[in-house]
Amino acid sequence: MRVNETFLSLQGEGYFTGTPAFFLRLSGCNLKCLFCDTHHQSFTEMSEEEIVEEASRHKPRHIVITGGEPALQLTRSLVDKLHEAGFFIQVETNGTLPLPEGIDWVTCSPKAAPLQTSPQGGRLSSVDELKVIFMGDGTDPEAFVSPLLGGGLVRLFLQPLDTGDEERNRIILRDTIAYVMQHPKWSLSLQTHKLLGIK
Ligand code: SF4
Repeated sequence: MRVNETFLSLQGEGYFTGTPAFFLRLSGCNLKCLFCDTHHQSFTEMSEEEIVEEASRHKPRHIVITGGEPALQLTRSLVDKLHEAGFFIQVETNGTLPLPEGIDWVTCSPKAAPLQTSPQGGRLSSVDELKVIFMGDGTDPEAFVSPLLGGGLVRLFLQPLDTGDEERNRIILRDTIAYVMQHPKWSLSLQTHKLLGIK
């Protein structure tokens, strides 16, 4: 398996914000978002056994499998091995590819056309959390919400885009908060790991 990096940290975003977790970043992505700030191309080959062994060296039993796009590589056998080792498995996906069965928590962060989050194309069978990046450019977050996602039980998070420009970020954050206040089924998600200065 092509592993970009592993590290221990706090989950910085969304529903599990603040949760100690082992992060497994798999290499590669099928999208090329203009605002991508993740250096996910380089990799080290690791077997599934090596991944489980590395994750198990640490205390947290919450693993976040991210990317890049983890669906390009994630297998049912790794999911099973991690469960046998006692892990709760959270996967962060852009929603464009199918995932193996058995994942405990799917966080979908759609980056392109809203229809890509639809399970109708056989891509995702369930989503627990939808995290939409708010760019303050007139994007309608509602366009990303499919009634099929989790039968209406999906937690909805709106996260301001980090543009790398302080002044633009301040405006986007203001607009994100304003949107959430007007549409309270959405909650604000912040990249708290960046605010804390941790990975
Ligand atoms: S889906 Fe995520 S990892 Fe892939 S290019 Fe877009 S922002 Fe980067």
